[in-house]
Amino acid sequence: MANITEAEIRQIVENIIKGNSASAKKYTSVSYEGRTLLGIYSDMNEAIDAAERGYRAVRSMTVEQREKIITEIRRLTIEEAAVMAEMGVAETGMGKVEHKRLKHILVAEKTPGTEDIVSEAKTGDCGLTLTEMAPFGVVGAITPSTNPSETVICNSIGMIAAGNGVVFNPHPGAICVSNYAVDLVNRASRNAGGPEILVCSMDKPTLESASVMQSHPKIRLLVCTGGPGVVKAVLSSGKKAIGAGAGNPPVIVDDTADIRKAAKDIIDGCTFDNNLPCIAEKEVFAFSNIADELIGEMKRCGAYMINAEQADALSKIVLEEKTNKAGKTVKTVSRACVGRDADVILAKIGINVDKNVRCIICETDFMHDFVQHELMMPILPIVRVENIEQAIELAVKAEHGNRHTAHMHSKNIDHLSAFAKAVETTIFVKNAPSYAGIGFGGEGHTTFTIAGPTGEGITSARSFTRRRRCVMADNFRII
Ligand code: NAD
Repeated sequence: MANITEAEIRQIVENIIKGNSASAKKYTSVSYEGRTLLGIYSDMNEAIDAAERGYRAVRSMTVEQREKIITEIRRLTIEEAAVMAEMGVAETGMGKVEHKRLKHILVAEKTPGTEDIVSEAKTGDCGLTLTEMAPFGVVGAITPSTNPSETVICNSIGMIAAGNGVVFNPHPGAICVSNYAVDLVNRASRNAGGPEILVCSMDKPTLESASVMQSHPKIRLLVCTGGPGVVKAVLSSGKKAIGAGAGNPPVIVDDTADIRKAAKDIIDGCTFDNNLPCIAEKEVFAFSNIADELIGEMKRCGAYMINAEQADALSKIVLEEKTNKAGKTVKTVSRACVGRDADVILAKIGINVDKNVRCIICETDFMHDFVQHELMMPILPIVRVENIEQAIELAVKAEHGNRHTAHMHSKNIDHLSAFAKAVETTIFVKNAPSYAGIGFGGEGHTTFTIAGPTGEGITSARSFTRRRRCVMADNFRII
């Protein structure tokens, strides 16, 4: 046998390990099945420079060319929806593959394109004034782990339609699938005759790279989709910012509702992608005289009822106590439970059920942690109320002033109007699952960036524009 040195043995072992991990890892934040993803950088400054080149390219295009790229983004998103859905669940451990696939198709079909950009003309004795929706330039976008690739594609369509360039700082926990979506947008651009790198992202996004983005002079607009921490950070940046923050959507069910339908709609909405969407039903306020019937119907729809003791035990697992910077003890949701299947969560308190269980329900009082915290998992607390006044008072308090989303099941238009007025949310859904509010089984366009705090609401291309006025005095009227 030939002599073999220690260094050679080390090399052979390294090669085997590398080979194994490469075949085990189908994707990374910079590659997919060995193909290098387009538009991914290691340095935020370089990513911004590349996004600026993308912006220059978009600016020099006709609207028709921009729309061609968007059409191709839509096509590829539908074609590759299943890939992104599977990758999203595998990478984050959260959500449901089939629901994530549907979310991508929704984004592809119902995110507005260039048709959303409209000009206004005002004519009068003094002539003509034209107002146009102009791009900001390069947009810095921060995206969440809960709808990662959906948000990247939805933001890209709207921002490109508006004529901007985009650089993303995606959630580190969903970086592979987010960057896959960035690459998809770039492939669409290349296929449609646009630049190969139109939108950009980071291989390892961090709070530091987000901070470089927030203070970079070439970034003209920040768009942030995430929890309260990041929204606060971008709103303190000194730049124009669109903040799409947290919600805790309450649902009221009164005694005029179609109870069977209400139960089905609530469970369908609450369990969609395992409750990850910020709009999903998070707590129910049910009139006492229909509460038992509602619970019975929910059970028929795949809900599993736990008792008060079990709810308290579960609460200690799904919420973790941490000490914040001010030295105060705060409860935060356990990342190991967010977006997990109901049976997986139940197993944590020793309850073994099969996969058909879609949702965990329980009766609680108003102050219970399940009511007060945005859990983002299929756990639904139900609080009994005596009348509409009490229902509205508690539901408004549970929403915590986010003014994000609220739901109601009722046939009493006075009740419906009273709650809508009191809760002041960006989205208010009547007699339907929560996802009807973002165009899934409801009218209107979709978005995965719902900007309550800064007021743009259900964002679309026009949200990413600045108004510019051009005045022609005395002339250009035709009457
Ligand atoms: P998250 O807040 O943990 O992260 C969101 C993004 O912000 C990530 O990219 C993260 O890396 C970044 N980030 C966090 N702190 C930051 C800071 N100080 N500076 C810069 N960047 C920072 O959110 P998540 O868990 O991925 O998503 C869930 C949260 O987002 C929920 O609260 C949900 O309601 C909210 N959300 C809101 C919308 C909406 O449209 N309003 C949509 C999706 C999610």
